[in-house]
Amino acid sequence: MPTFECMSGQSENHVRLFEYGSVKAVVHPEMEPALKILADAAKKQGFEVKVVSCFRSFDQQLAIWNAKACGKRPVLDILERPIRKGTLHGWSLVEAILRWSALPGTSRHHWGSDLDIVDGAALAGGYKVQLTQQETAPDGVFGAFHQWLTPWLVQNPEVGFTRPYSHESSAALHPSRYGVAPEPWHLSYRPVAEACEKAYSTGDLAALIASSRIELKSDILAHLDEIIERFVKVPT
Ligand SMILES: [Zn+2]
Repeated sequence: MPTFECMSGQSENHVRLFEYGSVKAVVHPEMEPALKILADAAKKQGFEVKVVSCFRSFDQQLAIWNAKACGKRPVLDILERPIRKGTLHGWSLVEAILRWSALPGTSRHHWGSDLDIVDGAALAGGYKVQLTQQETAPDGVFGAFHQWLTPWLVQNPEVGFTRPYSHESSAALHPSRYGVAPEPWHLSYRPVAEACEKAYSTGDLAALIASSRIELKSDILAHLDEIIERFVKVPT
């Protein structure tokens, strides 16, 4: 069973560096065969699977969170437009940050099972990856890659990859439970992720948040159950 230290990104004992062709990523070893299959299948179509985000530690996620809470990094609305600094406070600001960034300790990227991927072959000319829905739209820079990837994931379920933040899973939520924005670039390796979902402890999370140097701590702790319901659990 995965430990809470691993699931919350406080430990790196469950991940290691994996390199294969265009893929270079810190992941859970159990995912490596699936990643090879995905990379090979993409290569046959002229794409290069490039992992832009894989394992992320609690401290890395905390740095992202605090930068957004302090206005040092932009907080985006659902349409990916920056929200003007100083217009949101307290719980409203927490909710806005959560739409695009996980609460430290709850990111699926802590698990080593989840990846953000792009088509490395489309990066010629020094294009800077932003991970926006625009990039994955049919006319976007990674449009062709996603038009291949979407049916491939459906046709090859045995490989084990799912999209936990798809348009479909977000639309399936009741508006009042609406959580994370769709992230078609985010893949999850189901066998490892499911074990983490089952073993996750919210009591341990509350203690971790309470003892960390996180911005907006009191607003987070006051709404922790709601955060887990709306932003951490994903509909399957
Ligand atoms: Zn991601």
